[in-house]
Amino acid sequence: MSQVITASQPVYSKDNPFPARVTEDRLLNGLGSAKDTRHFVVDTAGSGLSHTCGDSLGVFPINRPEEVDEILTALHLSGDEAVELRNESAPLTLRYALFRKRSLASPTRKFLLALRDRAQESIETDRLDELLDPANAAMLKQYLAERHFVDLLEEFPSARFQAQDFVEHLRRLVPRLYSIASSPTLYPNEVHLTVAIVRYRTNSCDRVGVCTTYLSDRIELNAPIVPVFVASSRFGLPADDSADLIMVGPGTGIAPFRAFLQERIASCASGRSWLFFGDQHGKTDYLYGDEFERHLQNGQLDRIDLAWSRDQDFKVYVQDLMREKAAELWNWLEKGAFFFVCGDSKRMAPDVDRALHQIVAEQGGLDEADAKAFVKSMRKERRYQRDIY
Ligand code: NAP
Repeated sequence: MSQVITASQPVYSKDNPFPARVTEDRLLNGLGSAKDTRHFVVDTAGSGLSHTCGDSLGVFPINRPEEVDEILTALHLSGDEAVELRNESAPLTLRYALFRKRSLASPTRKFLLALRDRAQESIETDRLDELLDPANAAMLKQYLAERHFVDLLEEFPSARFQAQDFVEHLRRLVPRLYSIASSPTLYPNEVHLTVAIVRYRTNSCDRVGVCTTYLSDRIELNAPIVPVFVASSRFGLPADDSADLIMVGPGTGIAPFRAFLQERIASCASGRSWLFFGDQHGKTDYLYGDEFERHLQNGQLDRIDLAWSRDQDFKVYVQDLMREKAAELWNWLEKGAFFFVCGDSKRMAPDVDRALHQIVAEQGGLDEADAKAFVKSMRKERRYQRDIY
């Protein structure tokens, strides 16, 4: 990240985020899709913030006011109580701390122990003893994963906390990082984000992702209120614009590659580009499909392979298409192409990595050890880069 600043301008950073406006919130999925993926435009004009392709935007979310109210009710506190938080120079009200400074999700075993110390009713202490029994560690893990702090306060109402006591159990509300989906050359005063809005049910309760629903549900468009900063990354375009790019980005993993393509088009880069994208259904989930089809027609994108996982009875994923195109892919790699992966870290990225190793071994006529060494050298030369979450 680099910043162009004047003497009087504040330097915006993670410690001093810029209050940005979100000027556009557009649904990228078509009617009938199971997904809710949004295109947000964040206006950064006047901030001095700048980014390079591959960087992320950090966004500080704010908790749901309803959840803050539920906690205060369960605590029998007004919210006006003063609390002191680490790294804050002055006391804050409990309500403000819960709203902006502390995570209300992911309660800990330590909090259960605190509930056990305070609970007055035997029905509650018995249940807490059961959960805290070391023999029930797996059950406890699942129990905690499915609950927020408010659920525990409501489940064990005889345990009482003072404001300070309670906030000390909460972790910091940390910013979320989103890969930037726009080129700084094309959009110097804006940052585009591709965000999958997170909503799910656990323990018979509707849950939401705190930052994704902050952006989709709780901000006022055009109000300068969203605290943001640029997080720089080593993930990024090669300096040599004649290098070929292979980009694998299913779902929201498409974000940085939209920026890469915009940047390469703006700079008239001579290298070829090959995109692997996938999502559930071709009809509704081809994110930025109109743009990519236009780039293809204009010869600004050389190849695109699309994996629609739920358009047939069996799954088709990006790595299946890589395997189908193995000979061509190997040909690009042998000629020095850069290989980029962005998106899900738990399943997609390891599967794509396995497919890459397999293609290198089979097409390159290499044994397992040599294929591994080949991919390792790609990593070392920064020709294999991943931005996974
Ligand atoms: P996604 O859930 O990763 O799905 C995209 C496509 O990948 C679907 O077609 C899916 O198929 C397929 N897929 C599933 N398993 C795969 C595998 N092993 N290999 C290859 N492809 C596979 O899409 P997403 O909308 O980007 O959501 C990603 C997750 O990242 C979400 O849970 C989100 O909360 C999280 N996240 C998002 C952001 C952001 O929005 N910028 C940031 C951080 C984290 P099937 O579903 O049909 O199996």
